[in-house]
Amino acid sequence: MYLKCVQCSKIYTPKMLYSCKECDGILEVVVERNNNHPVGNELKDSMWRYGNRLSVNNADNIVSLQEGRTPIHKGKNIKSELDDFEGKIFIKDETMNPTGSFKDRLISVAISKAKELGYKKVVCSSSGNAGAATAAYAAKAGLEAVVLAPKSTPREKMTQIASYGAKVIFVEGNYSNSYKLAEMLSKNFGYFNLTTTFINPFGVDALKTISYELNEQLHGKIPDFILVPVGSGPLLKGLYQGYLDIINQSRHPYRTIPRLVAVQAEGCSPIVKAYRLGTEYVVAWEEPSTVASGISDPLKGYEKDGAYTLSLVRKSKGFAISVNDLEIKAAMKTLAHTEGIFTEPTGASPLAALKKMLNEDLINSNCNVVCLVTGHGFKDMNEHFNMIGQLNYLDDPNNFESVSEVLSLKKSTYRES
Ligand SMILES: *Cc1c(COP(=O)(O)O)cnc(C)c1O
Ligand SMILES: [Zn+2]
Repeated sequence: MYLKCVQCSKIYTPKMLYSCKECDGILEVVVERNNNHPVGNELKDSMWRYGNRLSVNNADNIVSLQEGRTPIHKGKNIKSELDDFEGKIFIKDETMNPTGSFKDRLISVAISKAKELGYKKVVCSSSGNAGAATAAYAAKAGLEAVVLAPKSTPREKMTQIASYGAKVIFVEGNYSNSYKLAEMLSKNFGYFNLTTTFINPFGVDALKTISYELNEQLHGKIPDFILVPVGSGPLLKGLYQGYLDIINQSRHPYRTIPRLVAVQAEGCSPIVKAYRLGTEYVVAWEEPSTVASGISDPLKGYEKDGAYTLSLVRKSKGFAISVNDLEIKAAMKTLAHTEGIFTEPTGASPLAALKKMLNEDLINSNCNVVCLVTGHGFKDMNEHFNMIGQLNYLDDPNNFESVSEVLSLKKSTYRES
């Protein structure tokens, strides 16, 4: 196993490095062959089932809360809401991770690596979910954790982070401000930086396990499209890398990986903008404004992350699309009402994008699609609260009349006892 620069291909031995020393490019983990470090039986039902393809050398260093191995649902009920769609929709439910988002996979590997490399304290700049994962896994590992998050982070996420006992600092302005502070703490004060952009190659590498799971759950059938909410893009990179591994190891190397669709919120969509303009570079977004806090990342100061993600979208023959807050909210409602899946706004953005792609004929009506639902509804309930409408209260518990009124029960089915 070694680290490799995605830009100049320089190779480094696997110690902690946040970017290429030559060109400042993004580093990726390369696993040449499987490690011979089998994980214990207690981890076989987690992402660590694929531990021999991850970067941790000694299984004793693994810090796990049983992340991964998340369910996949057939979105049959959603299909009835999509006119003329004849393909299959699968929902990969990442809300079922220990702290409620896929960030657990990334943080589990990265914090295990921190332990392996002898670090005693960790820092993470986060829009909420990575912070919650950092706080939880640091608690489990007995490491000191500092989390930096924007002041606008949803209250539920703030509460979750603080409840695990991490030191939390809420920073004025958008996500990019916290990003810079975490970098400073890591550079000058010896914190291991768990920030979940592309700066921690060990963490990013963990996300390929989502593809490994999908491939098992879909019995080796490769979906036509995977719709992915994108902030800076490690999640999309993980899906790309995972399917690349699958194809390289298969007996059918002529197969191609799924087309990856990067979904962003209209109020913060630097990657979609670059895609539309046809540029290779990405320009930072000035004023992010969206209900989807999980992908509200302007990329200021690390625009190259967006450019790298966009290059992977293009290599997969996918595309980038944005959805507005109304479309996201409608998709949250559809997921809850028709499939019983409760997600924060960001997690519904792929379904919103699918509806839009069908409406705009960007996608064939008989293809197989995977939507990733990335974060739990408990993490940000504000929009759900706004959408549920008026609540019913019953002041007099003996007043059956008003109950039957609320439930629109017909008199004929009402019996006096
Ligand atoms: C972090 C996050 C994303 C975006 O992931 P990136 O790897 O930054 O592109 C999507 N959804 C949720 C819920 C997240 O927390
Ligand atoms: Zn380089």
